[in-house]
Amino acid sequence: MCSGRVDMSFILRAFSKGIDGVFIGACHLNECNYVTHGNFQTLNMVLLFRRILEYVGINPERLRIRFMSGAEANVFVESVNDFVKTIRGIGPLGKPEGMDKSTIEAKLAEIAKLIPYLKVAKREKLAQRLDSHEEYEKYEDVFTKEEVKQLLEEVVSYYIDPKKCQACMTCARRCPVDAIISVKGQIHIIDQDKCIKCGTCIQVCPPRFAAITKLVGEPVPPPPPEDQRAVVRKGKEG
Ligand code: SF4
Ligand code: SF4
Repeated sequence: MCSGRVDMSFILRAFSKGIDGVFIGACHLNECNYVTHGNFQTLNMVLLFRRILEYVGINPERLRIRFMSGAEANVFVESVNDFVKTIRGIGPLGKPEGMDKSTIEAKLAEIAKLIPYLKVAKREKLAQRLDSHEEYEKYEDVFTKEEVKQLLEEVVSYYIDPKKCQACMTCARRCPVDAIISVKGQIHIIDQDKCIKCGTCIQVCPPRFAAITKLVGEPVPPPPPEDQRAVVRKGKEG
């Protein structure tokens, strides 16, 4: 019912399944029935996502948002017809872009893993209330091409240094998504596929251990093999 409920993952899923275009019909800005004004967030999300599509080589015109009230059937019909015309003009997903289905799927699967990170990294901009112009193309530069390129190429990761971790378990207790493999007496490991890159672990790791490092745009070193994870307590080495 509410455009504010449209998550980036919904759009990704549609394109991953080969849908040629995604149209979001939202209530007029500043006419939300709730204090949340979720349609502003959806507008920002669409602006960001159009840049992401552009980055992966998909025509951003395949994603569109338009604003209308429940009483404006004519606006809905005109908007959808116009969108369908645009999409027919662009062609089937992947064809004008020169990408086959599996390439698109693989590219979008990489983006899907980054959704929580994108939401955290761009939290403030995604929540901002822009002016109420409803031609979203006017906001094209709310997220710039360079900004989104940097966002996707300098992805942040967190890594637990096996030589420093003392298995105090603090990080695992505070991780909001249970992304830290935590075994008593063993070096802790961040499951990179589950980690949403919120940065909580680096903040709570006790300074005397300082075992967590923030990596930017770098590969994360592999964890030590399971039989080499026993913690050597500080001061007991050798
Ligand atoms: S960055 Fe956040 S999600 Fe990732 S391991 Fe640390 S606390 Fe968990
Ligand atoms: S908080 Fe730091 S020392 Fe404690 S288990 Fe996590 S990484 Fe290791």
